[in-house]
Amino acid sequence: MASNRTLKVLSFVAGAAAMAAAAPTTAVAALPRDNAGSAAFAAPGVPDYDQGVRTRPYIEEARSRAAAAAAPSGVELVPPAPEDGSVWISVGKDDLSHPAGMSLPLGVPVMSSARASVFRVAEDRLPQIAAQMHEKFHKCGGFFAHSTQAEAEADLKAPPSTTGGPYSVDQAAWVKPMVERVKEAELRSTIETLAGYNNRYYTADTGAAAANWIAGRWAKLAEGAPGASVRLFNHSGWKQPSVILTIPGSESPQEVVVLGGHLDSISGYWGGAGARAPGADDNASGIAVLTEAVRILGERGFRPKRTIQVMGYAAEEVGLRGSAEVAKSYQGSGAKVVGVIQFDMTNFAGSGEAIYLLTDNVDSALTTYLAKLVDAYTGVGAAQTRCGYGCSDHASWTRSGFPASAAFESAFDTMNHNIHSDKDTLGNSGGNAEHSVAFAKLAVAFAVETAKPAGSAKLADAAQPKGGASR
Ligand SMILES: [Zn+2]
Repeated sequence: MASNRTLKVLSFVAGAAAMAAAAPTTAVAALPRDNAGSAAFAAPGVPDYDQGVRTRPYIEEARSRAAAAAAPSGVELVPPAPEDGSVWISVGKDDLSHPAGMSLPLGVPVMSSARASVFRVAEDRLPQIAAQMHEKFHKCGGFFAHSTQAEAEADLKAPPSTTGGPYSVDQAAWVKPMVERVKEAELRSTIETLAGYNNRYYTADTGAAAANWIAGRWAKLAEGAPGASVRLFNHSGWKQPSVILTIPGSESPQEVVVLGGHLDSISGYWGGAGARAPGADDNASGIAVLTEAVRILGERGFRPKRTIQVMGYAAEEVGLRGSAEVAKSYQGSGAKVVGVIQFDMTNFAGSGEAIYLLTDNVDSALTTYLAKLVDAYTGVGAAQTRCGYGCSDHASWTRSGFPASAAFESAFDTMNHNIHSDKDTLGNSGGNAEHSVAFAKLAVAFAVETAKPAGSAKLADAAQPKGGASR
């Protein structure tokens, strides 16, 4: 089994590191060149843990550690960094100190604080860690992953406090006719299309193809909104891009209102690029909500005062990686991010008909404003829940110092437990998209009330569809 192999490799590295520290030249000289099978591996005193795994990188790493072993703590027993590279992840102390957290496959932290610990892990172990975070804590995300140690170390500190607002709810004449346009069939169609990809995994061809489909769909639907454009935000570390639709503000274009959700999916312990991961609820349902908002804004030719950006983030399931890079790109950019809303899982009615607003890792003024929007425009009630450290992409924005919020399908305890498996299908969320309807209304209301209609926009635009804007 693959899991046994990892344990053996880890044990081997620990052993090799200790041995190399004691007698580096002897240990390394006895090694075969590369890719030695178990029969060929016969270094004296070293158990046969090889099993066809390339050993040379581990030995060289152990050697270099040993050479640097003036370090007072001695040899580090950090998980190995094979040829596919390392990433640094941060995990919250609440999870690490929980009994279930003790068996997370993380090794020894490289740094810790009262808030979090940072671990160095091989990138190909991210799906395993994500699976365990899901199995043990029922989390969608649950940790941050970064390509540099310095980035991860920033997570040891509390994020900067944000002061979102002021926000106001005063555009009912615009919003009410728009939210009436939300259609369950449109939401369901988007979910079915996205769940039809074998998976939307961040390194899979189908993951990139799904992102491209979303980009094309948003571009088409937004045609009627003045100046609307879609771009791919490419990430250097993996194949799948994030997708960003922009409807430019006509009066305060540097002030940006962000609606987002992750577009990737993942399945199982050894998930990976080949596994079936429909991700119908997690998070085709969030992308469907965003897509429906884009459809209605485009259909109405909505001209906002502030800039509206709608985002599908890559690689959320492996440590919020896409949104981390997107949010960071706004730091020092000159843009003022007025407010961010996250939609991650909207279609499983685990707690009945309500919209649950997250209360942790969010901006409190923005969340209070969301509750008012829910009451005014969605037809359902607002409730509250918490979802913990690094829970979803809103935490990337919070971490980067921007006011963020998140709307969730249920209380945290009663969320959809079929996620991160081949069972996250539309059928297992009731076979329709009824629960997502209120979330799409919230998305429309958030876009219009936060960005506000431009002075030059005519209220008639809200009642009359623009020609050519629909499919
Ligand atoms: Zn998710």
